[in-house]
Amino acid sequence: MKELTERIKKDGRVLNEDVLKVDRFLTHQVDPHLMAAIGTEFATLFADEGVTKVVTLESSGIAPAIFAAQAMNVPMIFARKTKSLTMNEELLTSSVYSFTKQQTNQISISKKFLNEDDRVLIIDDFLANGQAAKGLIELCQQAGASVVGVGIVIEKAFQPGHQLIVDMGVPVYSLARIKSLSENQVNFVEED
Ligand code: 5GP
Repeated sequence: MKELTERIKKDGRVLNEDVLKVDRFLTHQVDPHLMAAIGTEFATLFADEGVTKVVTLESSGIAPAIFAAQAMNVPMIFARKTKSLTMNEELLTSSVYSFTKQQTNQISISKKFLNEDDRVLIIDDFLANGQAAKGLIELCQQAGASVVGVGIVIEKAFQPGHQLIVDMGVPVYSLARIKSLSENQVNFVEED
């Protein structure tokens, strides 16, 4: 997605060979116009899949996910990383290991929001090692829902997440794919 790759070139900051900072438009300050374009792009890509719910993980997945859900005219559900006091009903839960934070989080969604009739599109801001997307797929599977795909804003293609998700039988589509972050530069995978 040209608009996104141009924005990454302009406003992304390479922190080290593994981490890209995009807090100027995605993970902290959010550009609503870019998010709306991203939402439309996901809606177009998954238009034939009969999506009934968009699922993401708080907090950075919420911005792209809500625009995708609006464009598809379906609800968006974000999995929580901490249990809220009002979440006293039955929960779907799974654990997600974060390599960046070196900790495991229990993530959860109320059972009442997903069922076996749902066709879920999972959206997240980044795909790195694939643990967040895997945890979200497992939550949907616990509900008996079908996961029709994973839509990612920025994929670090040099990390193993993409293959992990494809090996789970779920297609992955990423709007920007990064080949490397070496020498302080963002190098994109050339798309045909
Ligand atoms: P994974 O579970 O695929 O290893 O990592 C996905 C999660 O880690 C994303 O939801 C994102 O919040 C965070 N993450 C992974 N890599 C990066 C990165 O390079 N930059 C930022 N800002 N977040 C990242």
